[in-house]
Amino acid sequence: MSMFNSFFKRHVNKKDGSPSKDPVCGMRPTDTITSVFQGVTYKFCSDHCKEQFDADPNQYT
Ligand SMILES: [Zn+2]
Repeated sequence: MSMFNSFFKRHVNKKDGSPSKDPVCGMRPTDTITSVFQGVTYKFCSDHCKEQFDADPNQYT
C-alpha cells in the first residue's frame, strides 16, 4: 500500500494542490488547457477533454 501512496503523490501538484493529470482520460495534461470547478483548477491534455469535463464536471470530480 505504501508503494501505491507514493505513486499517487507524484501525480499531485504540490504548488496548488490541484490534480496534475487530466481527470477525463488520466493522461498528462498541458498547462494551457484548464478549467476551474469548485475552486480547483483542472488541466487537460486537449480541448476535447476540457469540453467533456465542462459538460458534466461532477462525473470527473
Ligand atoms: Zn485528456
